[in-house]
Amino acid sequence: MKRLVLKFGGTSVGTIEKIKKVANIVQKRHNEGNNIIVVVSAMSGVTNDLLKKSQSISKNFNFEELDTLLSSGEQASSALLSGAIIDLGLKARSWLGWQIPIITNDNYTSSQIIKIKTEEILDFISNKGIAVIAGFQGISVNNRITTLGRGGSDLSAVAIAKFFKTDSCEIYTDVEGVLTTDPSINEKAKKIDKISYEEMLEMASLGAKVMQPNAVQAAMIDNILINVRSAFSENSGTKIISESEIDYKKVVTGIAYSKGNAKVSIVGVVDKPGVAAEVFEPIGKNNINVDMVIQNTSLDGKNANITFTIKREDLSKTLSIIEKNKQKLNYNKITHDDKLAKVSIIGAGMISESGVTHKMFRSLADEEINILAISTSEIKISVLVQEDLTQKAVKALHKTFELN
Ligand code: ADP
Ligand code: ASP
Ligand code: MG
Repeated sequence: MKRLVLKFGGTSVGTIEKIKKVANIVQKRHNEGNNIIVVVSAMSGVTNDLLKKSQSISKNFNFEELDTLLSSGEQASSALLSGAIIDLGLKARSWLGWQIPIITNDNYTSSQIIKIKTEEILDFISNKGIAVIAGFQGISVNNRITTLGRGGSDLSAVAIAKFFKTDSCEIYTDVEGVLTTDPSINEKAKKIDKISYEEMLEMASLGAKVMQPNAVQAAMIDNILINVRSAFSENSGTKIISESEIDYKKVVTGIAYSKGNAKVSIVGVVDKPGVAAEVFEPIGKNNINVDMVIQNTSLDGKNANITFTIKREDLSKTLSIIEKNKQKLNYNKITHDDKLAKVSIIGAGMISESGVTHKMFRSLADEEINILAISTSEIKISVLVQEDLTQKAVKALHKTFELN
């Protein structure tokens, strides 16, 4: 008898009809003789609506209250799904994070899971019960409800797979698995059968929404095999596994993008030790994440321009921090652009292949797409482009790297 975690995302439980379909999938897997733990997200759109409500009260809505609020979407969906399973004549019960409990630290809105108590649920599932756990939530050591960051039900599923030592962790979603790129912007996207943790982590961090980056990282650390698959078809999905089990035939595995980036250039700062630290220290202290950084020096070596990227919503705060620091930085001017996107190619096959960079740049040049910044790692190359060129860039690269 196998013990399985089946996680259903918001898109899979977005309507009452879909919840009933999910109950049927759960029933089928249960009837195959498996012990089942279900993890469920809020119905799609619910968490966004709750977030909007909090923002209409305050831009600085209290984080503890925000977590109590946002977690309520999963309270509703877990009860609805559990009720639908009971209605099929099976034994089921919903559990909220605090009832299990799933203990987290008190880093509200993006908490880390410390421990999950397993006895009660293990007893329930070994007596033919189906446990339905509300994803995305836990309880802090201070007895307050916490959440695990947006998309955090994926992390709930991975952590449950770890603490309950399950045989597999299946992530059901609205697409066939992890695809070569986001099918909503390129209809030529193809399902990837196997992808390594490292590649999936890059894809997820660089914008592929299909898995939450923290969930991939947690799975990588504990070697938890993940199967991403469709809630609406029987097809086998994508296995996320270790790199040693994959035979790379293609240089690039997938293409990801993220919109909503902004670029700031500080022009004409004096080029001396400590300038970059002076620029970035106050930005970091304000919890603003800096992504790409480029520095170039004038021909006479006296001045430098520092360019960096941040999220669009952090732009005005960043500009005011730099302006406040003008006396120390002594720059000429600041320029900025807030309608940019980052487009990335990802693939472990790149490690052993030369010429990937120029192939990428040539492909974009042929489409007359200007590259505004570049960053690389062993298995990815990212470029910054105008946001309205995102789809064109993704399609061109998808074709160039033979993913169509
Ligand atoms: P869920 O509600 O199941 O958590 P998400 O909306 O979080 O689903 O993630 C699934 C969506 O991720 C897909 O509908 C798709 O548009 C998007 N996506 C982006 N990049 C990819 C990719 N490379 N492969 C598959 N889906 C992707
Ligand atoms: N409902 C949460 C969100 O929208 C968690 C999730 O869907 O995984 O972010
Ligand atoms: Mg998701």
